[in-house]
Amino acid sequence: MRDSFDVVIAGAGPAGAQCARDLAARGYDVVVLETEPEDEFPRQSNKSTGGTFPSMMTAFGIPDDVVMQFTDTVVIESPNDHFVQEQTGAVLEFADFKTFLVEDGQERGAEYRFDARVSKPITEGGKIVGVQYSGSEKVYGDIIVDATGPSAPLAKGLGVSSLERKNQAIGLEYELEGVELDGGRPRYADLHDAMMLRLDHEYAPGGYSWIFHTGEDTAKVGVCYIQNESYQRYGTDRTVDGYLQHWMDTDPRFEGAERLEGKQHRGSAHIQPPGQLSTDNFMAIGDTVPTIDPLWGEGINKGMKSARAAAIAADHCLTPDTPDTSAENISLYDTLWHRDVAPRMDARLFITQLMYLAPNDRYDTLLRDLKRLDPDTLSEANKGNKRAIRKLLHLDDIPLLATFAKQRLRN
Ligand SMILES: Cc1cc2nc3c(=O)[nH]c(=O)nc-3n(C[C@H](O)[C@H](O)[C@H](O)COP(=O)(O)OP(=O)(O)OC[C@H]3O[C@@H](n4cnc5c(N)ncnc54)[C@H](O)[C@@H]3O)c2cc1C
Repeated sequence: MRDSFDVVIAGAGPAGAQCARDLAARGYDVVVLETEPEDEFPRQSNKSTGGTFPSMMTAFGIPDDVVMQFTDTVVIESPNDHFVQEQTGAVLEFADFKTFLVEDGQERGAEYRFDARVSKPITEGGKIVGVQYSGSEKVYGDIIVDATGPSAPLAKGLGVSSLERKNQAIGLEYELEGVELDGGRPRYADLHDAMMLRLDHEYAPGGYSWIFHTGEDTAKVGVCYIQNESYQRYGTDRTVDGYLQHWMDTDPRFEGAERLEGKQHRGSAHIQPPGQLSTDNFMAIGDTVPTIDPLWGEGINKGMKSARAAAIAADHCLTPDTPDTSAENISLYDTLWHRDVAPRMDARLFITQLMYLAPNDRYDTLLRDLKRLDPDTLSEANKGNKRAIRKLLHLDDIPLLATFAKQRLRN
């Protein structure tokens, strides 16, 4: 078996598989090492709700046949209110989406090795030159990419990863049929063709829960949160399974609903500032960094954008007659990441931490404000614009801001 490539990528998630597609399309020799066996792929890694937007579908040429349901609205719910925004989206069948990325990459010339669990970097003179996988197998590359999501064996082995357990968000979702989607009661919106996110500590303390319509009376229903200070403030001793069950037991929209067999998705991602992103011969992409948007957990588009930034940086390093994969040259990736992939990450993390610390009644006020403010202000606040964020704050928020400031000082 061949043991040397231009680029070796660990992990066939959206980030790794997209990076392979881009590099193979540019004619590079690429191998992707994926821990799961080919005939069951994706199994445990089939973890995502797959909510996304046309910007991702168009930018990366994703076909309609991996979409379960196109949606027209994004709905935000608080315990006693809801806010509806017209916005086209798509709920992907995540397994089909992953399979498409792999097959399309293979057609473009990328090699895939399944059942290939990457364990550690192979280094020479302190720099990564290859990876060890499936026990003692070895493969070498000019550039190595860690796209294994939160497990990050290469980034950790090189001391590039800053992922911390205390920042790990956990999520669980069931696919249900028989869900009451048409509102009916004044406090609920019509969730047909909608992606709904709910802010309510009763069901997701220090996080959010969701219902994404997947056609007829079916939906993906889940919860996620970080077990940090907000969780400790509002949480009980339930597990994530316990919270999802509690929601299903108490929300009237699930009264006649049944779980679809085998349709359960579980996973985690880190919500924290990025640390180092690259070093000599090496880049970390997707959730390994982490790239996921802290506020609403949009990780697919972000991860794929980081994959494209890494492919551009690899092309930049490998194109010259004498390739230069030094840390300095490869740091083009870092520049693109901060400029195009996750701009204003600090401001987004600030809103996230503040929002999930707020009590339930503050969520009702937030929704009233969302209805009152113009769409441009909302869009700017969502992007982390401080002036727009200030418009969402009230005098009554002073105690909340004080608690938040104390927390930040403690951390
Ligand atoms: C419950 C849940 C719901 C979500 N919903 C949404 C959503 O609606 N919309 C959205 O945009 N994002 C969502 N996300 C986030 C999104 O799924 C992730 O951000 C995205 O999958 C990250 O892609 P990735 O390629 O970086 O990593 P991953 O998807 O984690 O892929 C990593 C790949 O590497 C493989 N791997 C792991 N370790 C090794 C190893 N040692 N060796 C070789 N291979 C390895 C894994 O099997 C996997 O195939 C959700 C996440 C969860 C957990």
